[in-house]
Amino acid sequence: MRIIIIGGGIGGLATYHALQKSLPSSTIIDVFEAHPSALTTNGLIGGGLSFAPNGQRALSSISPSALSYIHARGYAHPKVTFRNSYGGMVCQMPFGSKEKYSFDQFMCPRAVIHEALLLEDNMDERVNWNKRVKRVYETADSVKVEFDDGTIEVCDLLIGSDGARSVCRNALYGEEYASQYDGMTGVGGFIPIPSLSPSIQEGIQKEPQAIIISQNGTFGLSKCSHPSDPIQRVLWFCSFEISPPPSRTSPPIEHLEGLLARYGDWKSPYDPSPSTGLVREVLTKACEDGNNKWLILPRWFTPILPHWTSLHGLSETGSDGVATGSGRIILLGDSVHSMPPDGAQGVSCAVEDALALALILKRYPKVTTEEIKNVARAYEDIRKYRVNKILAEAKGRADRKREGSYLSLKIRETAMYILSWLPEGFLNDEVFGHDVEAEVVKYFA
Ligand SMILES: Cc1cc2nc3c(=O)[nH]c(=O)nc-3n(C[C@H](O)[C@H](O)[C@H](O)COP(=O)(O)OP(=O)(O)OC[C@H]3O[C@@H](n4cnc5c(N)ncnc54)[C@H](O)[C@@H]3O)c2cc1C
Repeated sequence: MRIIIIGGGIGGLATYHALQKSLPSSTIIDVFEAHPSALTTNGLIGGGLSFAPNGQRALSSISPSALSYIHARGYAHPKVTFRNSYGGMVCQMPFGSKEKYSFDQFMCPRAVIHEALLLEDNMDERVNWNKRVKRVYETADSVKVEFDDGTIEVCDLLIGSDGARSVCRNALYGEEYASQYDGMTGVGGFIPIPSLSPSIQEGIQKEPQAIIISQNGTFGLSKCSHPSDPIQRVLWFCSFEISPPPSRTSPPIEHLEGLLARYGDWKSPYDPSPSTGLVREVLTKACEDGNNKWLILPRWFTPILPHWTSLHGLSETGSDGVATGSGRIILLGDSVHSMPPDGAQGVSCAVEDALALALILKRYPKVTTEEIKNVARAYEDIRKYRVNKILAEAKGRADRKREGSYLSLKIRETAMYILSWLPEGFLNDEVFGHDVEAEVVKYFA
């Protein structure tokens, strides 16, 4: 059997390792990635993210060494401090602790997770770089992949992990469910902690992940370096409503005035002085110092898709004119559920997808057309309901960050305060406690 994975991002690489571990060694697994090299993909995924306990649990089944690599390069933060823009405490919210879920919520650069998966099994040399897919389509007994360079590859099963602007998704839907800009843009980056005023440094030590919420956006700081890292860095991030989205390549300094107009007067108990607040200092440093890496990330999300595999039909571009779809094209990660970062679940859900798919395929080693249909069916049954629920919750959280009235902010603050006093399990068990291996066993039982 030959399996082709399109996309060498976090989802694609996690899938490669999961399949390698679960399938017979005679299975050929190839990864094709549009970027010319690992260096270019890593450069582009340069922000920071929260890796949730459920995602770490899935990765620990796929590659314990990749997880150890990640754990040595980030910061555990099992709770988040929320403050208002006057500096007042709203609440401290539990956000996934080791005691409860075996893994702490973990903040690290996105590049670290990608790197961990690339180092495993010498992936850098295995990925077919510089291969941009133009079209994929199914025939009666195979999937064909056409690349921009004119070459064609054929496989038994195609896994589309080519991100939010997926070409593989077109095989199922054409342009019908294209990802959409949701009107919110996130901006953020890293700053060395020692470059900040002493009072801000003290604040970061006391509240390693703190988010300020207000009527017109949010602003957060999150420690992102392992305690042993010689360069201690903090991730800053903010999000706000803007349409159309700003250019991703515009220089930071062009944005300073707009950011200060929005956030410059926000207060924090760790303000260096009454005239220069914490937020003002961080934004000014981020924009004025060309060495501080930062990103502009307009938020794209995929509308909820009715199906994740070609089992239920193909679009015009997805068929050779005869085939009607037998589940040989399977979507995974952001290609099928790109979600706003507010749910902090994008990477975790992609890694869960990868593990679930590998464990299902392991049960159908003959790979007949009938078996492939069963794989596609099981994958959708096991994954769709859970991920759609997380997607809806992430979208709800993102929407609550849009501009709103003073009253709606106060209601939100009160609700958060009450929730923060509930037992952690009430808030987080369903998402963070999820165990993919157990779910697959339960499904087949
Ligand atoms: C601002 C921001 C913050 C986030 N924060 C979090 C967080 O806190 N926690 C969390 O878990 N997740 C977070 N995420 C989401 C997370 O980064 C993604 O959900 C995750 O990386 C999914 O990976 P993927 O492999 O499916 O897609 P991607 O990472 O997009 O990878 C897709 C790959 O496919 C390649 N590709 C695309 N088109 C083609 C083509 N035609 N041919 C060949 N290759 C192609 C791309 O070059 C890319 O390498 C965040 C995302 C953003 C934007």
